[in-house]
Amino acid sequence: MNFDVLLERLAADDSTAEQALVAAGAAAVDTVLQTLCDESSPVPWYRLTTVLQQIGEASFAPLVTALAAAPTAEVARRCGAAFADLDVPDKAIYRSALRHHSPAVRAAAANALQRLKARAEPFLPDLIGLFEDPASDVRQRAVWACEAIGAAAIPALRAVRRAPGRRRRTALTALATIGGWDALDATDQHAVTRLIEVKAAGETPVPVHLCGSWYAIPTSDQSAVLDTFGLTGARPVTMRLGAAAWNNDHHNWSLGEHGSCSRMYVTPALNGWTLIFGTLPAVAHLRGEVAIRDTVRAHCAELSSRFGVAHWYGASCGDGWTAWCLAEDGTVIDHYDIVESEPPDDEDDQSEPDESVIRYYDDFVPRTARPGVLHEQLSIDGFGVSAADRSQWARRRYNIPDHAHATDVATWLSVNPGTLGPDCTVTGRAILALTSCGANQPSTPGALAI
Ligand SMILES: [Zn+2]
Repeated sequence: MNFDVLLERLAADDSTAEQALVAAGAAAVDTVLQTLCDESSPVPWYRLTTVLQQIGEASFAPLVTALAAAPTAEVARRCGAAFADLDVPDKAIYRSALRHHSPAVRAAAANALQRLKARAEPFLPDLIGLFEDPASDVRQRAVWACEAIGAAAIPALRAVRRAPGRRRRTALTALATIGGWDALDATDQHAVTRLIEVKAAGETPVPVHLCGSWYAIPTSDQSAVLDTFGLTGARPVTMRLGAAAWNNDHHNWSLGEHGSCSRMYVTPALNGWTLIFGTLPAVAHLRGEVAIRDTVRAHCAELSSRFGVAHWYGASCGDGWTAWCLAEDGTVIDHYDIVESEPPDDEDDQSEPDESVIRYYDDFVPRTARPGVLHEQLSIDGFGVSAADRSQWARRRYNIPDHAHATDVATWLSVNPGTLGPDCTVTGRAILALTSCGANQPSTPGALAI
């Protein structure tokens, strides 16, 4: 059989060539693997990895050799991709590769086991053994493989915590990633609680990585905030841990339906403002921008009835989203929301404007200005002005420029969590508390900085 001809046909997207190479089995492996390692070959690399994977066990040893000798990162990546998904009946074949002298082979074997998820449980002792591997990539992949096993890995990881060795710390991270607080045994929960108390004493505020939404309330009455937000199960944390939880819950895609709505981070009073980070269940499970907008507005208005003033802010680290909603004495007085539009997928598509999508939502209710709150008192008849005028009114009222960012507005009107520092006055404790989605549920997974 002329493998070169088959490879040419494979480059031309001929699926019968793939079938013929797979049918050739072990005899085809060397040629296919050489082509895979040739970065200048016209055959798409993923076509070749598919062939090697289907050939299965006969590809194993040649791939180990190629991985150990890979001259470039790209060749290692290609060989690793083929190696990780070999069609073999007994996955125990990977165990020997976990102990290979080449770190590239060990990492690729750990990656193969990670893809097995819970079915990799029989390999737990081998994977934990790699927690102290000299190569950082191998250590990381072993941790990921353990985490992918899930709850079944918890007893073995807890045992590592009770034994000496550097792997103890890695095991703690893996436990937290699998099951959060609940995955820790009583001894570790006690130790973590003590560490939080030590670190919280005299903690200096640091800037929060802002992605998601938060509220600002001008109060230091934390129990009133918990009550108003319907939060329970409050647990003291460090500010660093609270912020890490908020970011974990918004960026950890392995969390389920209630990943981002199970808990909220309530700050100590920062320069007199309590910030509440997180998504309320009432908002999290809504579909449609209008419904979300209306719920946020109603909630802000309600909060301001109780606290006099309530702000909601939104920002994203992924796109240009920025938003705010400002309410006083039960009324929303300014609501702004902007999303930078994505460029059209099809460059020939002429139907999409290439300007940013801008949305303004400004309420106007004429009323008497409160001294000290309003920057200037205006006397416009709100029922007779256009939407644009109303928007201008709101802008002037707080002197907010038209293209401000939520963090600018927060700097001017409350406190900007993105620039917190030692000059900020801190009163009270940071806490994490559960929403109705998180109450009586397993703790949210995630390894968080304390
Ligand atoms: Zn929820």
